[in-house]
Amino acid sequence: MSELKDVITSYNNLSFSDRIVFYTTISNDIAISDDTQSFLIETRLDGEGSCIYCEGMHVVKNGKRKDGVQRFLCRDCHRSFIASTDSITSRTRKSISVWATYLKCMLDQKTLKQSSAECDISISTAFTWRHKILDTLSELTEKAYLTGVVEADETFFNVSFKGNHNRSRDFSMPRKAHKRGNDVHANGLSSAKVCVPCAVNDAGISYAKTGKLGKISSDCIKEIFEKKIAPHAVLCTDKERAYLKLAELNELNLIQMDTDCRTISKDGRNYGIQRINAYHSRLKLFICRFHGVSTKHLGNYIVWNDLLSGNHRNKEAFFGQLLGQLLCARITRYGQDIPRRPSLPVAA
Ligand SMILES: [Zn+2]
Repeated sequence: MSELKDVITSYNNLSFSDRIVFYTTISNDIAISDDTQSFLIETRLDGEGSCIYCEGMHVVKNGKRKDGVQRFLCRDCHRSFIASTDSITSRTRKSISVWATYLKCMLDQKTLKQSSAECDISISTAFTWRHKILDTLSELTEKAYLTGVVEADETFFNVSFKGNHNRSRDFSMPRKAHKRGNDVHANGLSSAKVCVPCAVNDAGISYAKTGKLGKISSDCIKEIFEKKIAPHAVLCTDKERAYLKLAELNELNLIQMDTDCRTISKDGRNYGIQRINAYHSRLKLFICRFHGVSTKHLGNYIVWNDLLSGNHRNKEAFFGQLLGQLLCARITRYGQDIPRRPSLPVAA
């Protein structure tokens, strides 16, 4: 009996994200409980005080739904909502534990088929959930800020129109279909390739984003990295001239070297671009597993790779933290919009 008391006491001391880990460990089907409701109210509505839509502070209780979920009304924008409105779980009938299991599958790099079987959802739902989760996390990775010694270089992926044909009424194939995904014959950096500028610093923080088609430009580098690399940081790149403008604007200490030159000594320190080359290798290997990633979803797979390559010593804590962030985040892009995304990035 005293053991049970100990368990209850320990449970009460857990954070919400740890409770979710606990739940999903002991049960496969926990519905959205009162506990979850109170957590969402506390975190998403700032303790019943803040409106989800306008962040106004004049929020009042507005009765309950048939299933007992509390409704709220904002006196400022006159809109009604519940604690999970515009969250990752809204518009789905699955419980939080199913989402938790799915997130675990993603961290374990399981295929859509394996994940859908484990969560008892269809493969198309599994695909939509994958991108809902990655969309949300991509907004979080937008907060990345690189200081110290930063290495940057761009890598290229073949343009792929995979998945653009099914539900899009206005998509027409802009070129003849390739027989195989990697069957791109154009030499050099043609418009058949999409450029992905990547940067990683000496603390292991990385940031990469789908850029433009073909060769990189100063404007594209500026647009992607201007607010991501701290002013006065050391920036190591190859001899690409597109970085000059960014370096000047952000007053970066730019060190450019030959691609095959592994290190260059300056002020007694060694600088190189091995870290960014290793990042490219990991990213290429990861993308390769999907046998061709549609260009419109490439950005999400980059986020997924970043998530997996982070140095997470305590995996359970990382999972709980990630799940907490996902549940609290406000969703701006919905599942039905995923197939309708533009097939190509807009060139800068
Ligand atoms: Zn409001």
